[in-house]
Amino acid sequence: MEPRILIWYRNDLRLHDHEPLHQALNQRAIVVPVYCFDPRQFGQTVFGFPKTGAFRAKFLWESVADLRRSLQLLGSNLIVRYGKPEQVIPLLVQQLDISAVYYHQEVTSEELIVETALQTVLNDLGVSYKFFWGHTLYHLDDLPFDQHHIPEMFTTFRKQVEKQSTINPALPSPKELRSLPESVEISELPTLNDFHLEPPLLDERAVLPFKGGETAGIERLTQYFWKHDRLRIYKDTRNGMLGTDYSSKFSPWLSLGCLSPRYIYKQVLQYEDQRVRNDSTYWLIFELLWRDYFRFICAKHGNKIFYPSGLQGISIPWKQDWQRFDLWREGKTGYPLVDANMRELAVTGFMSNRGRQNVASFLTKNLGVDWRMGAEWFESRLIDYDVCSNWGNWNYGAGVGNDARGFRFFNISKQAKDYDPQGDYVKHWLSELANLPANKVHEPWKLTIDEQKQYGVILGVDYPQPIVDLFKSAEANEKLYNAAIRRK
Ligand SMILES: Cc1cc2nc3c(=O)[nH]c(=O)nc-3n(C[C@H](O)[C@H](O)[C@H](O)COP(=O)(O)OP(=O)(O)OC[C@H]3O[C@@H](n4cnc5c(N)ncnc54)[C@H](O)[C@@H]3O)c2cc1C
Repeated sequence: MEPRILIWYRNDLRLHDHEPLHQALNQRAIVVPVYCFDPRQFGQTVFGFPKTGAFRAKFLWESVADLRRSLQLLGSNLIVRYGKPEQVIPLLVQQLDISAVYYHQEVTSEELIVETALQTVLNDLGVSYKFFWGHTLYHLDDLPFDQHHIPEMFTTFRKQVEKQSTINPALPSPKELRSLPESVEISELPTLNDFHLEPPLLDERAVLPFKGGETAGIERLTQYFWKHDRLRIYKDTRNGMLGTDYSSKFSPWLSLGCLSPRYIYKQVLQYEDQRVRNDSTYWLIFELLWRDYFRFICAKHGNKIFYPSGLQGISIPWKQDWQRFDLWREGKTGYPLVDANMRELAVTGFMSNRGRQNVASFLTKNLGVDWRMGAEWFESRLIDYDVCSNWGNWNYGAGVGNDARGFRFFNISKQAKDYDPQGDYVKHWLSELANLPANKVHEPWKLTIDEQKQYGVILGVDYPQPIVDLFKSAEANEKLYNAAIRRK
């Protein structure tokens, strides 16, 4: 009898460049793909937010549904369960006479706990398992250093990797698959209501009507690279905040593995061959290296990335000030750039990189609020939530990450003028400021009473007064930071 190999799908919801699937097929096995909606992922975060909020859940649901459709088209199917993988998978293993379980390994604690629990049960059952590294551009085994010696600084990491490592080609998608054993119940996908979540409405101001799944991810790549031909100017536009194409928007599909970074790399090479090779084509790969770096750093440091003192171990006395935090998350700080970005996140589940850097700096360096509250809010909301990229970037934003080079904060007013000179972005999200001229829209607190009447924005009524003074608040938090450094 042919071996049956169970493919445990996790954050790798695709057919292309999927090593567990590829290896199982190489062994001429009947593959049995399984996805578990893990109830723990639908609980609450430490600070009490829905761990997987409605936007993320919708994107996930669509990605799983798309994977099922793709598997069906090839003659197979996706078994779906609502339950803990370490309980669900052993049952299926016994029921279907599975000889081995293959999956992509993760690096952070919640995921590792599940992997270890599953391995223990499989060991007891005498069933083998194999895990594969598969989320990054560069394979862990191909790095010029071992996991424990990954350079702490991104630039050192990047330079060594670019010089000494190569990127493996993306593996092809299977052309056909054998059907699943008839006895198995496939099960419907649970609905968002089953997770006590309301399906979110599409806000027409969103940068994209993001749809989960490998099919939509590949479509987005085709659109961005080939139809709209935007890769050639990526480096110049990537700091934008408004519109579909200022950046690739690949992150949601990357985070659930609907797109593999090696597939993107292959497409970049083709683009360089057929269209143009320039700084922009390189820069997309450069950004993907940041993504790699955060994953490798998480693999190296384990839980440190979640500690309040972060990778650097800097014990800043963070405040868990809910009043300030609520104003931040609702977009009511009185700083239009921060507010516009936070409202975009709240109603779409997405925010640009420029926006994320600014709001993270404001929460931590101006409001002095515990950065983990911000990171958890992002975890709950972002459709591209990726544990390593999110917590790694928040470490940086809070000043406890590997780049700790003194207290650095974003001057929100300057950032606003540099990256939104006409105020188009803030007006897009803050309709109450729509009548303000470009030279006033980023600093409404400077409006005279007459101007407030003229533009129809009464401060404190139509739009909030600033919650803190930008420079005084930064100065106060800098003192706390410097004291923490001295104590270190
Ligand atoms: C506080 C904070 C939290 C963040 N949380 C996440 C997160 O949960 N998930 C996530 O994917 N990214 C996160 N990022 C990184 C970055 O903001 C997003 O990857 C990017 O905005 C996604 O848009 P894009 O795909 O259009 O990016 P592009 O500019 O088109 O970049 C291409 C790809 O490169 C990678 N990338 C770019 N910048 C970074 C970066 N700074 N760190 C890691 N990878 C990067 C992403 O995979 C991205 O899709 C965070 C950044 C900050 C400052």
